[in-house]
Amino acid sequence: MTSERPTGLDPSDWQEFRSAAHELLDACIDRLSAAADHPWQPVPEEVREGYALPEAGAGLDDPARLAAELRDTVLPHGTGNTHPRFFGWVHGTGLAEGLLSEMVAATMNANCGGRDHGSIYVERAVIDWTRRVMGFPEGASGILVTGTSQATVIALQAARLRALGADVRAKGQGGRWLTAYAGDGAHNAARKAIELLGIGHENLRRIPEGENGLDLDALKAQIAADREAGALPFAVIGTAGSVDFGRFDDLDAIADIAADEHLWFHVDGAFGAWTRLADAPWRGLSDGIGRADSLACDFHKWMYVPYDCGLCLIRNEDEHRAAFAARPSYLAALDTGLAGGDPWYCDYGIDLSRGNRALKVWAAIRAHGAEGLGRAISDNCRRAAQMAELVEQAPGMKLMAPVVSNLCVFTADETLPPEAQSALNGAIAQKLQLSGDVVFSTTLAQGVTCLRAAITNHRTRPEDITHSIAAVARATREARE
Ligand SMILES: *Cc1c(COP(=O)(O)O)cnc(C)c1O
Repeated sequence: MTSERPTGLDPSDWQEFRSAAHELLDACIDRLSAAADHPWQPVPEEVREGYALPEAGAGLDDPARLAAELRDTVLPHGTGNTHPRFFGWVHGTGLAEGLLSEMVAATMNANCGGRDHGSIYVERAVIDWTRRVMGFPEGASGILVTGTSQATVIALQAARLRALGADVRAKGQGGRWLTAYAGDGAHNAARKAIELLGIGHENLRRIPEGENGLDLDALKAQIAADREAGALPFAVIGTAGSVDFGRFDDLDAIADIAADEHLWFHVDGAFGAWTRLADAPWRGLSDGIGRADSLACDFHKWMYVPYDCGLCLIRNEDEHRAAFAARPSYLAALDTGLAGGDPWYCDYGIDLSRGNRALKVWAAIRAHGAEGLGRAISDNCRRAAQMAELVEQAPGMKLMAPVVSNLCVFTADETLPPEAQSALNGAIAQKLQLSGDVVFSTTLAQGVTCLRAAITNHRTRPEDITHSIAAVARATREARE
């Protein structure tokens, strides 16, 4: 007997689909629970070629076949950031709750641009929790976005409207000359946002930095010089956790300057904002963050939540809404029913249709609370300090920047000339990645390409740090021979 074929794209046999899905879920749980056995590996050429799509679909007639393909050809070839010795760039590690919440989100397939449904209330709860953690006032507003890059565009558009008036939405910026300010070490997300808004990145003034973040006197002098030259300074960007060194600007001092100079104060807290959940002394690094007009931060880095999810938080809801609200009549709200639930998130950001990013964050917070997540964040800072200590003890190795939070930047052999150090550090980074031992990335410090570990990894244990520095020492010895 042939089973009746559905007219749509649903499986023809849900029972078969169910058992294939259960097996795949088991494979996912196996993979995640044994994350330490699965470092990054290059994708074999035949696997890459196998990703090419044929004209005809394989069909859900055989769900086991698709499930096996996902398990065998896709699942093993991630970035490797689930592994306990992945310290490259700033990568979150993902959480088991993510598996559950993503499954539910995919099933619901909610569009979170607006309307009245459960996922909207979940998102509001996530934003409200974060607002309280960051010390923003009640009534502040926010929206979940892809990440800090998008959040920065949203925040700076609101800042631009404050400076130029709402009319800029209708008439454009014209010849008006806006300038913004950020430290030398600010992330290029700020530069991209400034470019996208048509302000031009030469008008994002880069302020020199010391170990305590951007130089406040240099900031004031640059603002004065720009005013003198006829520019309209409109925003200052403070960094809470610089991507290269995990450095923090003095956010309280910048808030004071922003108030004096009538500038919008935006904070890039992509990962560093979460020191708000950490123990002393790390918590103190982000003091003053609650005084910002806007904050961009990520859940997918130091909150360990699966990609992607960031947040734009804006102090004044009216200013947030004024920058984005624009609903044509087919989207008009009604009092009740699906078209209720005002305010709608499409009035607070760029996207109209939006996936359910909130649920995985909500699940993480529900499972661990501020305390559990904070403990993991503090532990990451302790691991960075441990790494620094081991570097200082190892003959030839040298720290190239102070370790203030979760970032450790060092050279494998300070006795070599700078160029040779750069070559060695680059070679070690590649070798240890390829061998599946450790993932360091590299960055420039004091003119040398250095090894760089950003520890936003809740799976990292003290022995992983010991192992990693021993691997660097071994690779250095081998390079000498
Ligand atoms: C990662 C990062 C960004 C960009 O955030 P995305 O979530 O990748 O868009 C901005 N600033 C800092 C400090 C970062 O570490």
